[in-house]
Amino acid sequence: MNTHWDVIVIGAGMSGLGAGIRLAMAGKKVLLLEQHYSVGGLNGFYVKDKILYDVGLHALTNFVPPKSCGHPLTKLCRQLRIPYEAFKLEQQRQSRIQFPDVALYFNNHFPFLTENVRQQFPKQIDGFLELDAAVENTSDTALDSSDFISAREQLRSYLSDPLLIEMLLLPLFYYGSAHANDLDWRQFAILYKAIYKEGFARPKFGVRTICRLLVERYRTCGGVLKLKTAVRSILLNGSRAVGVELASGETLYATQLLSSVGYRETQALCGKTVEGEPSRLSFAETITTYDATPEACGWDDTITFFNTSERVAYEPTEALIDLRSGVICIPENYGDRTSDGSFSTSVSQPTVSYKLQQNPTDLSSADSSRIATQRLTLRTTHLAGYDAWKNLSPEAYREQKKACLGASRACAFNILRGQPPQTVLAEDMFTPLTIERFTEHINGAIYGSTKKFRDGCIGYENLFLCGTDQGFLGIVGALLSGISMANYHCLKG
Ligand SMILES: Cc1cc2nc3c(=O)[nH]c(=O)nc-3n(C[C@H](O)[C@H](O)[C@H](O)COP(=O)(O)OP(=O)(O)OC[C@H]3O[C@@H](n4cnc5c(N)ncnc54)[C@H](O)[C@@H]3O)c2cc1C
Repeated sequence: MNTHWDVIVIGAGMSGLGAGIRLAMAGKKVLLLEQHYSVGGLNGFYVKDKILYDVGLHALTNFVPPKSCGHPLTKLCRQLRIPYEAFKLEQQRQSRIQFPDVALYFNNHFPFLTENVRQQFPKQIDGFLELDAAVENTSDTALDSSDFISAREQLRSYLSDPLLIEMLLLPLFYYGSAHANDLDWRQFAILYKAIYKEGFARPKFGVRTICRLLVERYRTCGGVLKLKTAVRSILLNGSRAVGVELASGETLYATQLLSSVGYRETQALCGKTVEGEPSRLSFAETITTYDATPEACGWDDTITFFNTSERVAYEPTEALIDLRSGVICIPENYGDRTSDGSFSTSVSQPTVSYKLQQNPTDLSSADSSRIATQRLTLRTTHLAGYDAWKNLSPEAYREQKKACLGASRACAFNILRGQPPQTVLAEDMFTPLTIERFTEHINGAIYGSTKKFRDGCIGYENLFLCGTDQGFLGIVGALLSGISMANYHCLKG
């Protein structure tokens, strides 16, 4: 391997890949180092018992139709020179925020949510529209760091009904808050636009479509990717980073470094300890595939965010999983189903129709036949206690995984109602320990540090953060984080 690089990027999750492509496109000699055997990080995929599973993907947020100017999704397509159509996006049907006695529905047309608010909370509609205007006027993507402003407090100045506040917050907590029971106002604005104003889509065949596109683009531009190559330490000369030492003992040098592994984790690679407690907000996720269809079960919604009381408890838990709230996703409820069982998508006009079993171009035929039999997938996500899982013996861990899988499914059946499916074809579950093991995020903390570093600067001249702890989250956010940090620190001028 060459030993001197223009830029070394640590971590091939979404942000590392986004940064790598921008740098390679600009002709930089760039090396992307990934400790795991595949790319994607928190949004990767894996094969178990010959079945492909997506790790994190419920939804690609920020959906807008092609050629919409100035939106995160189309911006990232332009920056990476990846055609929008290549993502093969299918839109959500509709999603639901379910509380004990009331539900709000939303889809990719904001007026639908507004109408729902008007019907369910007639006295709140003026405040809701004022809140919407305030979000639109918030400069949420600026790279300057600012003090934490409580989104919950801000919402109280527009809305007087606490239940509506909780309902609006729930999806935003689950899709991007590193804080317990609150989030920063700018983060709220980003997520509100990404989820409510823009919306959800899913690439046909899931997150591997995105991963493959990104890796191909990166390599085509001349970038070098090394998998199963963990960085053991970052080599410093005063406040300058000069290179990295790999777990293999090899040393590599670079003019600049970008790290996507998190603030604490990057400081640890530099031999520094960060004071204070690391975040403990982590998730467990279950995936079950059934021999059934969503119609047969009467399950129409794409994503259901649920809370079993009037107040959301989005906070670290001591339990293995906290079933009081969660997210339920049915990936088959993307795209419109037609009478012959095929799917159509209205993403690009005119509407195109295709059968899932067809188009084996980007999957092996074995994969395709598997997918054809996976007719109903139920994904559930809950808050989960890192310590509770950590303290189990290996045998108890296996047993508890099985028990929690069953409990989570029962909880989902209760929320979704209808006719739950019977025959399980495949199932899997991951815990905070799985997340930590495969991404190195301390405590399996999904959204990293509560303090974000918007400009990527963490005290070194030429080592910068991108990704989760820079502050742009989710697939689209992380990609944009990598792009903007590469542009700002490595390519300006
Ligand atoms: C359960 C779950 C569900 C989610 N659902 C969604 C969703 O539906 N939609 C959405 O948009 N987002 C979702 N997300 C969030 C989204 O996945 C993340 O915000 C985003 O992927 C973060 O990307 P990143 O590049 O910042 O970090 P990461 O994905 O964490 O990438 C960091 C990479 O660095 C590597 N690494 C760590 N240490 C080292 C080292 N020492 N040497 C080399 N490599 C190293 C890791 O292996 C990893 O690949 C979900 C996340 C989870 C866990």
